[in-house]
Amino acid sequence: MNQLLVEEIDALLPQTQCGKCGFPGCRPYAEAIAEGRADINQCPPGDQEGIRKLAQLLGVPPKPLNTSHGLPRPGKVVARIDEQLCIGCTFCTRVCPVDAIVGAGKQMHTVIAAECTGCELCIAPCPMDCISLVSVAEKTDGIRQKQAADNARSRYRFRLQRLAKAKQASPKAVTKAIAQPEIIPTAAEERKNAIVQAALKRAMAIRARTDNNRPPVK
Ligand code: SF4
Ligand code: SF4
Ligand code: SF4
Repeated sequence: MNQLLVEEIDALLPQTQCGKCGFPGCRPYAEAIAEGRADINQCPPGDQEGIRKLAQLLGVPPKPLNTSHGLPRPGKVVARIDEQLCIGCTFCTRVCPVDAIVGAGKQMHTVIAAECTGCELCIAPCPMDCISLVSVAEKTDGIRQKQAADNARSRYRFRLQRLAKAKQASPKAVTKAIAQPEIIPTAAEERKNAIVQAALKRAMAIRARTDNNRPPVK
């Protein structure tokens, strides 16, 4: 593979690490483009401007975004966790491609907004539906946008290295760490438990609200 070309393509990708292109991150997509396995119009976060830059680099005509991969989002978003609802199941931390969520098992989790790329990957696995996306001011100048992309790229690479080291030390543990809950049976079991915990927590919250609204016994 032409590594220089891969680097050049990767440098033009937004580093959201969302996987919408059909690859598990910007770097794998860059490799696929360099090898002719993917087209230049599969990255919704990069939108038309990203396609234009890729076309220029590769000396091919630009083309419209392939919207079967999703639509571009107007403006920047980051994830936010409703910490009152979080049950600390850790599903979100396992899928975050840039390690932007902190929190220990059975404890409240928080998104480090400055590190979040808005990739949305943490939203679906959350059994409490307590992660939402909020709009934030976009870095408008090119230098700050590049700094943000470089930072996301470093964090993505660091996470892959961390997982690779953990896999060497304990292959089972890392399978659990990156498990897709719907695919890995042990994670599916964990997910079931988390959903039960989530239902209990919701029921307790409703009960507490009802008790608070009940008139005092005379
Ligand atoms: S930003 Fe998302 S869709 Fe675009 S290349 Fe990176 S992982 Fe793929
Ligand atoms: S916190 Fe959620 S939206 Fe933000 S980068 Fe991590 S997985 Fe993506
Ligand atoms: S997936 Fe949801 S409930 Fe589980 S730790 Fe993350 S925010 Fe909390």
